[in-house]
Amino acid sequence: MSTIFSKIVSGEANADIVYQDELVTAFRDISARAPTHILIVPNKAIPTVDDLTEDDEQVAGRMFLVASQLAREEGIAEDGYRLIVNCREHGGQEVYHLHMHLIGGRPLGPMLAR
Ligand code: AMP
Repeated sequence: MSTIFSKIVSGEANADIVYQDELVTAFRDISARAPTHILIVPNKAIPTVDDLTEDDEQVAGRMFLVASQLAREEGIAEDGYRLIVNCREHGGQEVYHLHMHLIGGRPLGPMLAR
């Protein structure tokens, strides 16, 4: 099933794209929770992290490498940042196209509310 993120990858929908290559696309979250809030998504529509297969090893690795590269470019690497991948209902996933949140630019507090 196609989501808004597939449309952003293909250029059909607008987004503030900060990086794109043959495997992944990164764009600013429309509802940023911190000074830097970027989503890194596979160009291929993989619904959740649970749907990754061995064939996706390269794209999964690329998501991490692009996240760290963008963190350096955003100037947040030295202070640190958080990468989040939500999976399905209990993970709070809203868009069923795998994505990694790159969040930083301020202290982010505890990892989870108790
Ligand atoms: P998640 O809860 O992990 O599925 O996160 C989905 C994220 O996508 C949320 O932080 C939304 O603000 C963000 N989002 C939804 N639609 C768009 C869009 N059109 N452009 C950029 N970010 C979006």
